[in-house]
Amino acid sequence: MSDAFLPFALPDIDDDEINEVVATMRSGWLTTGPKTRQFEADFAQFLGDSSLQAIAVNSATSGLHLALEAVGVTAGDEVITTTYTFTATAAVIRYLGAQPVLVDVDPVTLNIDPVKIEAAITPRTKAIIPVHIGGLSCDMGAILEIAKRRNLRVVEDAAHALPTSCEGKLIGTLDSDVTVYSFYATKTLACGEGGMVVTRDPAIAARVKTMRLHGFSRDAFDRYTSTRPAWHYDIVAPGYKYNMTDIAASIGVHQLRKMGRFHAKRKAMAERYTEALAGLPLTLPSHGPEGESHAWHLYIVRLNDDAPIGRDEFIQKMAERKIGMSVHFIPLHLHPYWRDTYCLKPEQFPVAQKAFEAIASLPMYTKMTSDDQERVIRAVHEILGG
Ligand SMILES: *Cc1c(COP(=O)(O)O)cnc(C)c1O
Repeated sequence: MSDAFLPFALPDIDDDEINEVVATMRSGWLTTGPKTRQFEADFAQFLGDSSLQAIAVNSATSGLHLALEAVGVTAGDEVITTTYTFTATAAVIRYLGAQPVLVDVDPVTLNIDPVKIEAAITPRTKAIIPVHIGGLSCDMGAILEIAKRRNLRVVEDAAHALPTSCEGKLIGTLDSDVTVYSFYATKTLACGEGGMVVTRDPAIAARVKTMRLHGFSRDAFDRYTSTRPAWHYDIVAPGYKYNMTDIAASIGVHQLRKMGRFHAKRKAMAERYTEALAGLPLTLPSHGPEGESHAWHLYIVRLNDDAPIGRDEFIQKMAERKIGMSVHFIPLHLHPYWRDTYCLKPEQFPVAQKAFEAIASLPMYTKMTSDDQERVIRAVHEILGG
């Protein structure tokens, strides 16, 4: 068995993506163009709901910003999200001058707790951002029910959730206002950098398309149907520069075609970890309800209170065995900016705090071989098997 360093994550790129990128570079069209449009059409088709529009952007962070702007979040509004997420989920709320209201998570799934969402609603609350941690769906039935009853918008952070399902429906096709995916290098579909905004609301789609590219009126780009000269455009808002390049989309179209194989492999790897690590002083991640799709972006274990060592030492011992590990996530309430700006204390988030102290993510990606995974399993047994 190899003893080379096993990285925590690696993209799965082969000649399909490489040849498409080269063809795009030779085509002379590098920025948003035919490849991006193809990727958008393919993505909407992948979700399998013809009423959806998919709008490609240069990151999920950009996409979340555009989504909140399009649903009408403005300065002074409150947006409820989870402390147990990556900083981008909450940073985009600040971009608009609105206030993030962070709540605690469910101890089994580590997803936002709907009961705590309801308790955090005030007259200023405008929206909820659920995050499907690791690729396991939030309790969207409960979240959408609260949103409907309290007249709140829902923007799903689906950075981990391709492909994830909830009550038999793929995330992206639920009754949320907007769903946003990430194609960052480590995600289940990787373009290097990229994201996708999905909505079935035509007004939201139109606003996102305008704001992702400088605030151009949409018609300006429709040179074939426009009666105006090709050089003419109207700026209707102070838009952003969030469009996807055709270079990134060239990678995305091929990654999407492999999604079935990628997902089957991740699922098999997760099942193998869960079988092989049973009986150790670890809490293994929830596989979710029978029959639902878990995207398995991450495999997050938690060291139990009776484990012989703590989390930091566990990661250190894995590193000594040349195995890359990570921690998802350092909750937002522990980061100086969020902690100090909102006077956040660990006692406000007992579940996320306790989880954070015990969590470690094992390497799990499609480029890993069976031997690689065996190495990880053996290492965990050596360290924790006693
Ligand atoms: C990766 C990630 C993001 C940001 O995605 P980018 O495409 O890198 O902007 C947002 N939210 C969560 C939960 C993430 O893991």
